[in-house]
Amino acid sequence: MSYYSPSIEKLIESFEKLPSVGHKTAIRLAFHMLNMSEDEVKEFVNSIIKAKENLKYCSKCFNITESDPCEICSNPKRIQNLICVVEDVKDVIAMEKMHEYKGLYHVLHGAISPMNGIGPEDIKIKELLQRLQTEKVDEIIVATNPTIEGEATAMYLSKLIKPLGIKVTRIAHGIPVGGDLEYTDEITLMKAFEGRREL
Ligand SMILES: [Zn+2]
Repeated sequence: MSYYSPSIEKLIESFEKLPSVGHKTAIRLAFHMLNMSEDEVKEFVNSIIKAKENLKYCSKCFNITESDPCEICSNPKRIQNLICVVEDVKDVIAMEKMHEYKGLYHVLHGAISPMNGIGPEDIKIKELLQRLQTEKVDEIIVATNPTIEGEATAMYLSKLIKPLGIKVTRIAHGIPVGGDLEYTDEITLMKAFEGRREL
């Protein structure tokens, strides 16, 4: 049986759904929220609702954005014939922090993982191929994570895209194996980027 009232129980459950929040942290957060003033709680909730309402995916690169196409896709100063393929929206942020890359992006929203039942059709590969038909692209830089799934996705993309006469490169392994692009520091990421090799 529960020691908490149904509404607190529900609040704890909601917090537990968030990444890296365990049961104890969820309880702490729930009680913290109960101690906040009504105005503070309203502001907090509204900021979540506003973000959710205003943010959508760019119809071109699938990055998260408030305008469609996103700021990167609609910036004429970006190199239009260069696309960097990443797994996640957070990887775009990591790349942008590097201030080195001036091309466009394509966010796959995952990686191929037969173990988890994720096939090529479950991520934005079809959409990438569609872009290659309408945009003049000379190089695709595959910056998926250096994990088994990331490597499998890189190989799959290379097999599909190389026959189209487009250069496919993979960022170097300055990034630790099994690592995550998102948590790689900017210098390491920049080195990995400069040392990219053709697939
Ligand atoms: Zn975009």
